Amino acid sequence: MSCFYCDANHEGRNAIMFEVGEMKASTLYLFKDQAHKGRCVLALKEHKKELCECTPQELADYSEDLARASGAVKELWGCTKLNLASFGDSNPHLHFHIVPKYEGGFEFGGNFLITNPNPVHLTDAEYQEMIAALKEKLGI
Ligand SMILES: [Zn+2]
Repeated sequence: MSCFYCDANHEGRNAIMFEVGEMKASTLYLFKDQAHKGRCVLALKEHKKELCECTPQELADYSEDLARASGAVKELWGCTKLNLASFGDSNPHLHFHIVPKYEGGFEFGGNFLITNPNPVHLTDAEYQEMIAALKEKLGI
């Protein structure tokens, strides 16, 4: 069965995000829509649907990954508030959206849309610069 995060070269995933690197229990991706500067996704390496299906070790490692990855986003791009959210109704492989919000900026004070009708795309060089910055900050 095809899975958005398990398939090594899932076309739908490759269309909307870049892989940054592997952390302890998860894989970090940079979202191509950068309407929120630094937006990422952190997906569990194992195919599990829910946090409550994780082993205690996975829970510890995944929450540490989430704190470190979101912390790196905040340090690198200086958001006002990190929004962290997990939905997955139509993509049931455990993942969290890491969405930095900037006071006075896009969607600040409200919910973020999973699929932004007006995405902000960067140049390949700009994406590569962000990916390199995340890798360096996280040592991945
Ligand atoms: Zn999966």
